[in-house]
Amino acid sequence: MLPRVPVQPKSLEAYRPIVGDEVLDEIKSLAEPLQGARVLHINSTAHGGGVAEMLYSLVPLMSSAGLEVEWRLIRGDQDFFTVTKLFHNALQGMEIPITNEMKLKYLNVIEENAADFQGEYDFVMVHDPQPCALIAGLINTPARRGKWIWRCHIDTTYANDEVWEFLVPYIELYDAVVFTKEDYIKTPLKVGVKAFITPSIDPLSPKNIIPEKRVQSDIARRYGVDENRPIMLQVSRFDPWKDPLGLVDCYREVKKTHRDVQLVYLASMADDDPEGWHYYEKTSQYAGNDPDIFLLSNLQGIGNVEVSAFQAMATVVLQKSIREGFGLTVTEAMWKRKPVVGGGVGGILLQVDDGVNGFLVKSVSQAAEKVRLLLDSPSLATRMGEAGHEKVRRNFLTPHHIRNYLRLFRALVG
Ligand code: UDP
Repeated sequence: MLPRVPVQPKSLEAYRPIVGDEVLDEIKSLAEPLQGARVLHINSTAHGGGVAEMLYSLVPLMSSAGLEVEWRLIRGDQDFFTVTKLFHNALQGMEIPITNEMKLKYLNVIEENAADFQGEYDFVMVHDPQPCALIAGLINTPARRGKWIWRCHIDTTYANDEVWEFLVPYIELYDAVVFTKEDYIKTPLKVGVKAFITPSIDPLSPKNIIPEKRVQSDIARRYGVDENRPIMLQVSRFDPWKDPLGLVDCYREVKKTHRDVQLVYLASMADDDPEGWHYYEKTSQYAGNDPDIFLLSNLQGIGNVEVSAFQAMATVVLQKSIREGFGLTVTEAMWKRKPVVGGGVGGILLQVDDGVNGFLVKSVSQAAEKVRLLLDSPSLATRMGEAGHEKVRRNFLTPHHIRNYLRLFRALVG
């Protein structure tokens, strides 16, 4: 059997004061005919990156709505995850030749996982490309009786043709697909139901509860960051799409006029992302030995509380991505009332309203200009932070996400 990820129980009622009665009551009525429905979420990692982050909340909260929900992982070796990271990059538009050998490696590992699959579910939600082809190994088995949904979290608008065409026949085996935005579907898909659903953050998770001031100060001190000087923060995996080098350039631009500014980059090394080390090294070399640049990761003890503390201490949060499926780090920062300077791409466009709760930028110099503006105008930063918080409260919290998934489940079973 595929390994199961244990999750802590959570109660939906605790979210009523945050999201309001309307959302909670709709969840209740949508869930009524689905009581006891067996739901399986499958992805490739329990740690690192946005999907794992969300499943720790979605799984127990969907259970709290009365469904029987499990989260399981596919297994794969290093070579498999190297291939799937190449697929991921190609799906985001990188020109990477996809060889037959890569496809074979992918399909062999997926076949092993299909052989390990047991159980019958009413709904199976398969997240991202890594486990996408699993369904092919389960046709004509009891496992295929339920509704299968492929949930793509990445921006596939500019997907490399070869990898897109390789995956389409597998995607078209599903009963439904979910993308974050309609324009992420590169070519029309022959799938019965298509839904567009944004991801979410959990306002009651340790990642999103702001630690006390004293804890924040301890954390700053532990890593040598001066909390009394301005902090530019980016939280993201070391990945070319997050533009870590552009971020360092932006900081250097700002530093010319704001000598006291510091750059903090927090990264988590995801189990299914073998590129992380390579880009960490690259960024670290590029940053040189500037004492005001802090590149920190889970290996130095950066966990949820530390991420939250730095988000709370930041003066400006950046997400200088070149592609971004959604960008939970943007949502997290907005929830903590921080103005965000983000690359004007993908899911960042759904979150940042330019000039209202942050700024959308297209270049390093534009990013630096907006950071300076925010450093010089604390009242603007506060106003934007408030607007960002409210936008997240109305749209991007876990209960909204559950409501949208339940609407989809109901549509699938008529
Ligand atoms: N994250 C973290 N620690 C880090 C860096 C990232 O916990 O040092 C989390 C971050 O808070 C967010 C998720 O990883 O919840 C990243 O999700 P996002 O959608 O921004 O990007 P992805 O990694 O999925 O491309």
